[in-house]
Amino acid sequence: MVQRRKLDHLPDRFPLACQWEVTCRCNLHCVMCYTDCFNEPERIRQELPTVDLLRIMDDIAEAGCLELCLTGGEPLARPDFFQIYERAINLGFLVTLFTNGTLITESIADRLAAHPPHRIEMSMHGLTETTFEQVTLGRGSFHRCQQAIALLLERSLPLTLKSTAMTLNQHELLPIKRHVETIGSVRYKLGEEIRPALDGSGTPFQFALQPEALDELHRQDAQLWSEACHRRRPDTSPCRSGMRRFHIDAYGVLQLCSGNRAQGYDLLNGTFQEGFYDYLPSFGCRWKDPATTSLLHPSVTHA
Ligand code: SF4
Ligand code: SF4
Repeated sequence: MVQRRKLDHLPDRFPLACQWEVTCRCNLHCVMCYTDCFNEPERIRQELPTVDLLRIMDDIAEAGCLELCLTGGEPLARPDFFQIYERAINLGFLVTLFTNGTLITESIADRLAAHPPHRIEMSMHGLTETTFEQVTLGRGSFHRCQQAIALLLERSLPLTLKSTAMTLNQHELLPIKRHVETIGSVRYKLGEEIRPALDGSGTPFQFALQPEALDELHRQDAQLWSEACHRRRPDTSPCRSGMRRFHIDAYGVLQLCSGNRAQGYDLLNGTFQEGFYDYLPSFGCRWKDPATTSLLHPSVTHA
């Protein structure tokens, strides 16, 4: 891991970390998924072809970016996944892979182990088959996920398991956390954010937990409680999206972050340098405190 203190010399605006949603395709259809609405043939045909994706990745590396998170959809559902992944490794990125794990076979695990990522984050939305598959809507997905965990651990790959808190799995969240804590090297993360679908629909919210239920959950676990208290602190670090972090969608559009796609810069018709330095600073966010965005372009209007 690149040590933070070695990055102190970087300017405030620097393309340090990229999250790239390389596809919206996925073999599952989770009930709270915000990309699944674009997991259909016509949309998939519009996603970045390999050659353009690799060209943009080269530009990002050339600009000095160090951290690359490959997410989706399910990145492994792209037939050219290993072309993308191995180029990223060869370019020297610290690669994080977000995956549902269910497409990981022995040979895929071997290939990942040959060029290990910095981190693999895998979804684990239930501890029982029933709950897991009520979320994923994919028969057999629970066992494939369990198998993937075993394959990755056998190869000592760095694994984080994570769940999204929902009404469907509320009763299993703490048992999942406790279970993961028994698997030596594996970390656990609880996600609490449900987002509207990319087509604007609010369908995923029907599974969101009410704030009172989340609070109740936090109070039952010292670590979750401490993290929740930390998030409420007024001096929590300001959002760095657009300053040192950025997002690219499956069609090659550069954005502030995956949660704010209101404005974008088309990397198919421009350069990454121009998009990051000339356009991204003018993108606004209604959730950002204007006091923390002093380096934004003067023409910014917060929505
Ligand atoms: S595994 Fe991830 S990308 Fe696939 S449907 Fe579920 S939430 Fe969406
Ligand atoms: S404050 Fe805005 S730009 Fe920052 S992470 Fe949240 S939605 Fe994204």
